[in-house]
Amino acid sequence: VRKIGVLTSGGDAPGMNAAIRGVVRSALSEGLEVCGIYDGFLGLHQNRIERLNRTSVSDVINRGGTFLGSARFPEFADEKVREQAIQNLKMHGIDALVVIGGDGSFMGAKKLTEMGYPCIGLPGTIDNDVAGTDYTIGYMTAMNTVIDAIDRLRDTSSSHQRISIVEVMGRHCGDLTLMASIAGGCEYIITPEIGLDKDKLLAKVKEGIYKGKKHAIIAITELMTDANELAKFIETETGRETRATILGHIQRGGQPGAFDRILASRMGAYAVDLLQQGEGGRCVGIQNDKMVHHDIVDAIENMKRPFRDDLYEVAEKLF
Ligand code: ATP
Repeated sequence: VRKIGVLTSGGDAPGMNAAIRGVVRSALSEGLEVCGIYDGFLGLHQNRIERLNRTSVSDVINRGGTFLGSARFPEFADEKVREQAIQNLKMHGIDALVVIGGDGSFMGAKKLTEMGYPCIGLPGTIDNDVAGTDYTIGYMTAMNTVIDAIDRLRDTSSSHQRISIVEVMGRHCGDLTLMASIAGGCEYIITPEIGLDKDKLLAKVKEGIYKGKKHAIIAITELMTDANELAKFIETETGRETRATILGHIQRGGQPGAFDRILASRMGAYAVDLLQQGEGGRCVGIQNDKMVHHDIVDAIENMKRPFRDDLYEVAEKLF
């Protein structure tokens, strides 16, 4: 491998810039050339590719978002579109590609690999929903953002004896909701893995009111139900004012925290190591604080992320 490409794809996450920097700087230190591809697979298809040097990634380690840009580009599922992408990579003399993104982006990387083009996937998403890694880049920073929001809601909820519902991102993964709830001291946690039982939730909220709780914070993962409708239901049944707060894209932004900057830097450097060793079609992870890599096809198709029942049990005891 002499020249590598790097792109960010799917939902952006704090620490993506640090990951790009990790790839660029470690590749240059190994004597490789690097090209940045703008706006993910969309820019790859449109041939928006540019050489990156040391200073291209100056002053980005502390910045949220991704300076390369990201995009949703469902057309990449089409083989003809991917053929064009590979042609563009070859035209620039790029021998291998590092894809920073979530499981959807890994699917794109996997398909390129299956077409004979070597890719390495780095897990960059706030959802922490990628198999083969304990943590994804962006997750810890987003968790701190969620905790900050919960803290603020707690202040105002207890002043008004109000019930608050907080909708947290994560798609089909409840990690962000669960961990932020433990750290934020939420009373009720609803994630896709646990499921939503409205009557059970209501009974618990009523129990809290009976115990004399001044506030109730209910954390729920997005896409499970309409949070505003759930608030109406709780308000009607308890007689207590109930409001839903949908955190939304706030969770994606902001300066990456220490954990994500270090994780992203390590993963970026590790991706370059793997390419140097002739590895392609791998996805990088961190397990027990060690860098690991798995077959990207295997990770997408066969590996599941286990839900942390042990942590849910802890949370249940603390409410
Ligand atoms: P996040 O979960 O944080 O939103 P993600 O990477 O999972 O990130 P997606 O929108 O699912 O986000 O995927 C990003 C991009 O990866 C898609 O817009 C598309 O270009 C590509 N992609 C997704 N699925 C496929 C597929 N089956 N085949 C080829 N490319 C795909």
